[in-house]
Amino acid sequence: MTINKRLKIIFGVLFTFAIWFVNMGVASPGQTKTIHIIFRLDDYSSRSNTAMELKVIDEFKKYQLPCVFSVIPFHKTEKTGEPIGGEVPLTLAKASILENIVARGMLQVALHGYAHRRIPKRNLKHSDEFSGLSYMEQLKKIRDGKKYLEKITGLTLFAFVPPYNGYDRNTLKALEATGFDTISADIFGVVDKYSKLHFVPFTANLIQLRNAVELARNSSDPHALITVLFHLPDFLELEDAGGRGKLTFQDFDALLSWVKSQKDLRVVTFDQAIQSNLDLSASHFVLYKRFFKIYSLVPSFFHRSLRGVYFSKEVLSGLWVWACLYALGYLLSLFVVFFALTSIIGTKLRDVFKVKIYFIRNGSVVLVTLVLFYVGVIHHGSFGCITATVSIALLAICFGFWNSFRKVHA
Ligand SMILES: [Zn+2]
Repeated sequence: MTINKRLKIIFGVLFTFAIWFVNMGVASPGQTKTIHIIFRLDDYSSRSNTAMELKVIDEFKKYQLPCVFSVIPFHKTEKTGEPIGGEVPLTLAKASILENIVARGMLQVALHGYAHRRIPKRNLKHSDEFSGLSYMEQLKKIRDGKKYLEKITGLTLFAFVPPYNGYDRNTLKALEATGFDTISADIFGVVDKYSKLHFVPFTANLIQLRNAVELARNSSDPHALITVLFHLPDFLELEDAGGRGKLTFQDFDALLSWVKSQKDLRVVTFDQAIQSNLDLSASHFVLYKRFFKIYSLVPSFFHRSLRGVYFSKEVLSGLWVWACLYALGYLLSLFVVFFALTSIIGTKLRDVFKVKIYFIRNGSVVLVTLVLFYVGVIHHGSFGCITATVSIALLAICFGFWNSFRKVHA
């Protein structure tokens, strides 16, 4: 048996085993467990639709389920028909709605930025309200927003939700300096492993919730958490939803009714999740991001999605090693396949079409340059599924051609 054949068999077995393990690794249902769910409604403000918000509140009241509202203290006037550049503070009437439900233990209020305004910044792909600004600028916005919202609602705020889920390390420092203990953005957010904050990234929307629960149920995780983010424009009934509507109020009612009826589901706020001793530490978020970075190097059609659930540290620590093997198996198999194919094509080009070695050798140099350009310049050195697949395939093609060149001199 040639070395090439042996390598192919080894990598084939390794890859198949890794796929099996990663897919089965989280699956060992049977033990009793509680799946925690947090509902987070963003963009409550002086300009948001109060009638719809009261309907949402009534739904949560009806099923006795708590939720989190992210509240904008000074809503920007852009897109409201008012003079551009202004800010409208949260009104006393809207503040008292919140105060009432918080008093019944049904709601946690989170600070949702300052004015929810995108600040154009140089050198940043996506602009948002905070990332890229200096520490002092961010500190001022967070401090002023918190001070006003606490004054008008009479509450003390501990959770922060950055608008557009955008923030950076300065935001984390400013939050700690202003007495916040929780940040909730998305799963791609920046994390400093020494941060004392709790990280609660959202993992699903209303439509994805049932699938996320299924994923958590089929896992061996006794501490799974699902954070559901929704906005008023998700409801088809909102007239100015701008085509973003996904479900009707009736669907929402059915969803909450289903959640309430499931014995293994427990709906909590950020504060209640912390009190329940769920691990929301920075080091947990670091591990979560690291696992998915490696796991998602393999194209999604090879495995089922593990997104939707914030798996606990114990489960992620076990899966991390196997995710590395899984990704390695995939990339090596890919390399072997492209290497073998190109070796055959290279030999054919040489023997049948009489292509000069000169072209093959220089073609390889061009390919390596392409790989470096693709990864380094187009993707700024960051490796994702497509980048990894394309670069490994190109490198294998390059080595395959060199292999056919080597044979001439053998
Ligand atoms: Zn928002």
